[in-house]
Amino acid sequence: MNQVIELIKTDVKKEKPAANALGFGKHFTDYMFVMDYNQEDGWHHPRITPYAPLVLDPSVMVFHYGQAIFEGLKAYRTKDGRVLLFRPEKNVARLNLSCQRMSIPQIDEEIVLDAIKQLVEIEKDWIPNEEGTSLYIRPFIIATEPSLGVHPSREYKLMVILSPVGSYYSDQLKPVRIYVEDEYVRAVPGGVGFVKTSGNYAASLKAQEKAELLGYDQVLWLDGVERKYIEEVGSMNIFFKINGEVVTPKLNGSILGGITRDSVIELLKHWNIPVKEAKISIDEINQAFQKGELEEVFGTGTAAVISPVGELKWKDTTMNISKGNNGNTLANRIYEEITSIQLGKAEDPFNWTI
Ligand code: PMP
Repeated sequence: MNQVIELIKTDVKKEKPAANALGFGKHFTDYMFVMDYNQEDGWHHPRITPYAPLVLDPSVMVFHYGQAIFEGLKAYRTKDGRVLLFRPEKNVARLNLSCQRMSIPQIDEEIVLDAIKQLVEIEKDWIPNEEGTSLYIRPFIIATEPSLGVHPSREYKLMVILSPVGSYYSDQLKPVRIYVEDEYVRAVPGGVGFVKTSGNYAASLKAQEKAELLGYDQVLWLDGVERKYIEEVGSMNIFFKINGEVVTPKLNGSILGGITRDSVIELLKHWNIPVKEAKISIDEINQAFQKGELEEVFGTGTAAVISPVGELKWKDTTMNISKGNNGNTLANRIYEEITSIQLGKAEDPFNWTI
């Protein structure tokens, strides 16, 4: 598929928000990317067009059966004014993995990557400068066939929208308090937990609400069968440092394979710090804590990059992890390294940025 991206221009430009009023995903830029799918033409008419509301028939399938997927990545502005994307080809590949699981026709990864680059280039004035800020990129696909029959839609829209964002948390590396959820589950074997489909997030809200009511920041998800093995934390992957060794749950079909997770594993290997992917039970983590061997816990994801965990609450047990921590942690070191690569401040031996 070799398609030219049409540009439909606008002279109407929005006022850009102040850096301290950015928040997360509240403001959107002047343009968006759109491409349509139907059975006759496949994916067609890629275009960059003024950001505007959609008009959709109330019967389109996404409203009823939730055939919807998305991605999330960021563009960063370097000190010398360049614009960098962090491993965007991984996001586009994961979008196709989500397509496959959700019976959505495969996209041409090159076209979508090119669309992201062109859209960001046009909107580069929207990339904020301040520490901790970036331009969040949200590609997504929705089923747009007007039909109430339960079957894969025969029409889709792929869109990319952009949002200037501040730090995910006001104090980026402040340890978060986590509630280990043992009633609700996020995903099950054979299900859709390993892809970014909207229903996963809808299904997670109840537990997140419960954790917040109990005074915690986020949920740690256990496996959906035995409620015993660790999966992820909120919408991040999770890492534990036990006795000098770093361990993260092995991808098992119900965990989302995070791009930050993959980057952290590569970075640790590069630093010769022992790291492994394994099936880990919450009981093992508690035992390590009780023996004083649980040195660090942190989440990884595009939004916050690294998020240290200060406390894990599991049934009647409270594991207080960051006690006596002077900030000289592996989590901080990884955060510094990855954000420096993202901002073009450090060497990029992995060729992660483009
Ligand atoms: N798990 C879930 C459920 C997520 O939504 C995300 C965010 N995409 C992650 C993990 C982290 O993935 P990434 O590092 O690619 O942002």
